[in-house]
Amino acid sequence: MEKYLSQLNDAQLAPTLQKDGPMIVIAGAGSGKTRVLTYRIAYLMSQGVDPFNILSLTFTNKAAKEMKGRIAKIVGDGEAKNLWMGTFHSVFAKILRFEGHHLGFPSNFTIYDTQDSQKLLGSIIKEMGLDKEIYKTKQIYSRISSYKNSLITVKAYFRNPELMEADAMARRPKTGEIYQEYVDRCFKAGAMDFDDLLLRTNELLTRFPNVLAQYQDKFRYILVDEYQDTNHSQYLIVRALADRFQNICVVGDDAQSIYAFRGANINNILNFQKDYDDVKLFRLEQNYRSTKNIVGAANSVIEHNKTKLDKIVWTANDIGEKVKVHRSLTDGDEGRYVASTIWDNKMNNQLINSDFAVLYRTNAQSRAIEDALRKRDIPYRVYGGLSFYQRKEIKDVTAYLRLVLNPADEEALKRVINYPGRGIGQTTIDRLVVAANGYGKTIFEVLKNIDNLEININSGTKNKLKDFVVLIESYQIMNQTANAFELAEHVVKSSGLINEFNKDGTPEGVARLENVQELLNGIKDFVEGQIELADAGDSLAEFLEDVALATDLDGDKGDPNHVALMTIHLAKGLEFNHVFIVGLEEDLFPSAMSMNTRSELEEERRLFYVALTRAEKQAYLTYALSRYRWGKLIDAEPSRFIEEIDDEYLDILTPVNDRRQNPMLSADIFGDIEPSQIRFKKPIKRKSEVKPPKFIPPAKLKPIGKSIGNPDVNLFDGKLTVGNIVEHSRFGKGEVLKIEGVGTDTKAEINFEHGGVKKLLLRFAKLDVL
Ligand code: ATP
Ligand code: MG
Repeated sequence: MEKYLSQLNDAQLAPTLQKDGPMIVIAGAGSGKTRVLTYRIAYLMSQGVDPFNILSLTFTNKAAKEMKGRIAKIVGDGEAKNLWMGTFHSVFAKILRFEGHHLGFPSNFTIYDTQDSQKLLGSIIKEMGLDKEIYKTKQIYSRISSYKNSLITVKAYFRNPELMEADAMARRPKTGEIYQEYVDRCFKAGAMDFDDLLLRTNELLTRFPNVLAQYQDKFRYILVDEYQDTNHSQYLIVRALADRFQNICVVGDDAQSIYAFRGANINNILNFQKDYDDVKLFRLEQNYRSTKNIVGAANSVIEHNKTKLDKIVWTANDIGEKVKVHRSLTDGDEGRYVASTIWDNKMNNQLINSDFAVLYRTNAQSRAIEDALRKRDIPYRVYGGLSFYQRKEIKDVTAYLRLVLNPADEEALKRVINYPGRGIGQTTIDRLVVAANGYGKTIFEVLKNIDNLEININSGTKNKLKDFVVLIESYQIMNQTANAFELAEHVVKSSGLINEFNKDGTPEGVARLENVQELLNGIKDFVEGQIELADAGDSLAEFLEDVALATDLDGDKGDPNHVALMTIHLAKGLEFNHVFIVGLEEDLFPSAMSMNTRSELEEERRLFYVALTRAEKQAYLTYALSRYRWGKLIDAEPSRFIEEIDDEYLDILTPVNDRRQNPMLSADIFGDIEPSQIRFKKPIKRKSEVKPPKFIPPAKLKPIGKSIGNPDVNLFDGKLTVGNIVEHSRFGKGEVLKIEGVGTDTKAEINFEHGGVKKLLLRFAKLDVL
């Protein structure tokens, strides 16, 4: 431990070694907050604190995984495994599995993802006969979500005339009724949506003091990263759990609070000292991540915010290159500039793809960047689109699996009852829903009793419905003995899904088939991991929980050497060697929707601060003079944020790239001057009045642009030999000791650095030969 503590500076050591009591670390970007949390957990364990008694809450599953890996290196694998570490959602989903029965939920409740929730809302709106142009599912969804995150239950809603009035004013007076029906339907389906995982945890801890006491006693030490972005619901959970021992350590940076639009409350960090007695406050000031130029630029921007805590951030790192500012004619040129700069840097400075990240304000901006990267054959990955598990074909398969576990799951049932086609039409499904609502039963219960209920469905269709029940019940029986992989493979084949995907000979169809194969591999891997780790429980339930809570940032599959493309929101907490912040234009960044109040604009500025501080060595700011948005070419002006950076940190590039890349820009624009002689003094005049456009559609989710790496399951057939060193995603590096069997049954015995000797079926084990 001593050795590790020497990797911290004195300011970092103080909070690390502060074992008990409430404490807060407020510090700027890159100053080691996350590092302090990590080492502090290791230190607590070295002081005899049982890992079972430590709860650590992070912003992404990926962050939790990395933190756990780091701690394992310090204290050893066995111990680190027992830490409770993860996002709020994943930790409390686990707790609700154990305790949800107090609230009337089965332990195998389904987690509805955003798609499921919106589909259900869509049906409710339709069933209630409301105008779907006024009651837009996405808007209703986010409205309900914000109620839940503020702990406004349906009852509380109907007790609050202001809320009802606000919805009525927005021409949606039935919002409360929809909310009511949505909550009832989720409950009946044994399902919780993402927000329920927090709301129901709060309900559990409030209504059941014994349960609260039990978890207060369990979680004697609580740590929270990125505390500035907790919402009210999360805040209350932490407060309740920490109330008994008050060993609560939160770290955060008010200047990086960027989720107000999703209910995050910056006051949680500002008021922490009022919430507990004798709070110890720590500050870190030295940034270890970035060059002096980047730190200076970031500091000079955030200075423009009025609402902020005073903080010092400095660095002993090199001065580095100045922040480069580049203007392009169009968004296409901007993409080409990014791609050519990456290309040049790779050639001249021995950099690799994963040294680069391109950050943008809205998902829609990735397209132009993707096009340019593809043209240059630079591998990239778009994060934050649909996660693998949200793809249609994957959701089709998992819907069957969800039904096996929880036949009440209405969204899963509606998804597969007639897919692949069984001649069960939409009218029949609508009637089933009406009957289920009328009888107060789940749709599956209605199906099981179809002969005894009064329902207007002809006998031919009834037989088809009965066949469907038999099919699902046969899977349920199989699930009692088979593991999740065996079941999933059987489901894919026997449900007709595989034929359905096979029939489609298009490249998309083939890709679908490959994805399903990849899903099966994943389940196999999961099951094996569980068996090897000797904690095989209900593998299907656990797998589905992982699936429901997976985000695109977590499932880092494929070749890790790629340029990362993501929104700034997603980049929080991460760091990259070279960072491009693109689309720095008024109305885009800052967003047109955030220009109405100071607080909205300040949140945009914090977002820019987050973006800039992701860069270690070099930051590039780019903007275009015109850009395609919503199908139209729109003139753009440089963002005020560029102007706000002190000159001394900036290198305003000449438009030489514009000219080279765009034939439209002919010499006469420059006259006789060589383009390289033109230096832009800081531009950048804004029109006196910027009118926000009337309506801006929300950014569309983009599917992942390019799938990198498509592990060939048979790759190792016969190719692996004793003595090979391999790497496995979960067990790390290992040496092959023995190979047995042939063909698809080939197994290898491998001695892994994490977890020792394991026997793996090569067809499914995802191994890299080193
Ligand atoms: P953010 O606000 O962006 O979340 P942070 O405050 O959590 O940043 P870390 O991610 O913990 O900062 O640290 C930033 C970088 O600096 C990491 O690469 C980390 O390993 C490194 N670092 C932190 N402290 C030290 C130190 N004492 N010595 C060397 N490197 C350090
Ligand atoms: Mg951090």
